[in-house]
Amino acid sequence: MSLNLGNWQLDTVNGGMFRLDGGVMFGVVPQQIWKHVALPDAQNRILCANHCVLARDGKHTVLVDTGYGGKYAPLDRKFYDMEPGDPLATSLAKLGVATEEVDFVVFSHLHFDHVGGAIRHDADKQPTLSFPNAQHVVSRVEWENASSGLPELVTAYSHQDVMSLRELARLRLVEDGEEIVPGLTTRLTGGHTEGHLSFLFRSNGQTACYPGDICPSTYHLRRMWHLSYDVFPLDTRRNKPQLLADAAEGQWWMLWNHDPTAVISRVVSDPKREYVAIDTNKSL
Ligand SMILES: [Zn+2]
Repeated sequence: MSLNLGNWQLDTVNGGMFRLDGGVMFGVVPQQIWKHVALPDAQNRILCANHCVLARDGKHTVLVDTGYGGKYAPLDRKFYDMEPGDPLATSLAKLGVATEEVDFVVFSHLHFDHVGGAIRHDADKQPTLSFPNAQHVVSRVEWENASSGLPELVTAYSHQDVMSLRELARLRLVEDGEEIVPGLTTRLTGGHTEGHLSFLFRSNGQTACYPGDICPSTYHLRRMWHLSYDVFPLDTRRNKPQLLADAAEGQWWMLWNHDPTAVISRVVSDPKREYVAIDTNKSL
């Protein structure tokens, strides 16, 4: 799906469909409630998309998140029902974009389903950069946590990918509110991970937001509906409604990372349901 936002051409690219446990996706919300919104399969998993964003303004080619990549072993693929091959590489090729053209890879955070596509295996099974000419951008706090090896933080991080990035990538560590390139700024939303970033594209008076996993789908618009992966759930419950309030007021386009059907929406406040999505997939 494409969105023309002033100077920015935003295209969603497929980082790979997969399935995650419904309990993991909805935290404290009981299955008796969430199953009416997202139907679980026989293994209690729900379908998740992995919409990454390719952003081009004529001067810069920016990739936001990289999906899970193509190097997972068959057992892992089966557990998560991952797509075969390397979905991100296939999706970029369909757009006619060579991996060498990407000059910025920006990560919302470094969990396996966001970072895996940045590192591939070469013919000798050695890790190598998928985007060899790119500056790799991650929040300083996220980098410190992901590379710390602290046992209480390791669960969802792909340690091997983080180590490969440390060894191979041109890294840029950024702070809250930092401009990565003109018209693309970070917003530290935390919650999901301490250093989790959302991204704001601005041009011509319009804004598009990639919230990342602070609000990964339209199912997660309510304050209490958040991932049980969240390391700081109270921050998610505080910061997500603030982001959504700004999105509603500014009529931002929201680019949902993991929603299996809604790719792009705007949001409005709703007296009963807190926030609801409108104009879904009616992009410019
Ligand atoms: Zn994710």
